[in-house]
Amino acid sequence: MPAAELLVTPTFNLLPPVFGYILAGILGALIGSFLNVVIHRLPREESIVFPNSRCPSCGAAIAFYDNIPILSYAVLKGACRGCKKHISARYPLVELLCALLFVAVAWHDGLSAALPFDFAFAAALLALVFIDAEHMLLPNAITYPGIVFAVVARLVVPYLTATPHFDDLPSLAHGALANSPIWLTSIVGGFLGALIGGGSLWLMGWTWEKLRGIEAMGLGDVKMMFMVGAYLGWRLTILTIFVGVLSGSVIGILLMARAGRKDMQMLLPFGVFLGLGAIAALLFGSQVAEWYAGQFR
Ligand SMILES: [Zn+2]
Repeated sequence: MPAAELLVTPTFNLLPPVFGYILAGILGALIGSFLNVVIHRLPREESIVFPNSRCPSCGAAIAFYDNIPILSYAVLKGACRGCKKHISARYPLVELLCALLFVAVAWHDGLSAALPFDFAFAAALLALVFIDAEHMLLPNAITYPGIVFAVVARLVVPYLTATPHFDDLPSLAHGALANSPIWLTSIVGGFLGALIGGGSLWLMGWTWEKLRGIEAMGLGDVKMMFMVGAYLGWRLTILTIFVGVLSGSVIGILLMARAGRKDMQMLLPFGVFLGLGAIAALLFGSQVAEWYAGQFR
């Protein structure tokens, strides 16, 4: 056999798609396990690489065989092997959610060079959602690198994929930017999305502050939406804010009704709802935007 024939690249599409989804799910569970470390340690300003995973109660190092995503929690029945103290159900929940999220992203993207970028974006959102839910905080340690990541993705991804990938690129490429190189169109789209995302959140906070004289929204939400807007583009950013405000209002009103409060002073972790909105926009936004645009054609 000539040597050249040995170098023929294997055809991966012969593998059944189900195998790809299983791989995506396993990767998601592993990344979810890492996100647990990020979610626990970042707000406490601890290093996320050192030391190894420890029991939050007794501090005993967790052996690798007790650190298998989802499975170890089930085997150990949610208790530390050493001190038998209960371990928060958040740990397997984050792992399971991240696994499902990665399967959904793989379903959305298919076998695309954009897949690792969408995985990273979705994982960052999941970490922000859980940190904001617990601490009412969206750490700069995620949002700042997230903004840089979005800019890099904007420059690189259109050259890696056959389709434009970013939702806003087709509309921008037909407009004023028709004769621009794709990287310029892409970066302008990212800037526009960041301006709409960060700008509208800043405006909401500013208006609320003027009306009520209290600081309602932290700059964390603004920075988070700067990152989301730069990555998703203007259409999906508007959708993200719509879903975030709507779901946040509904949950907020329900919580206030339950607590018997009518003064609107109850603070909600808005980043949770914006994060869920951004995940929904990433997965289903393009279809929703197309459907909506179709109503006016
Ligand atoms: Zn323990």
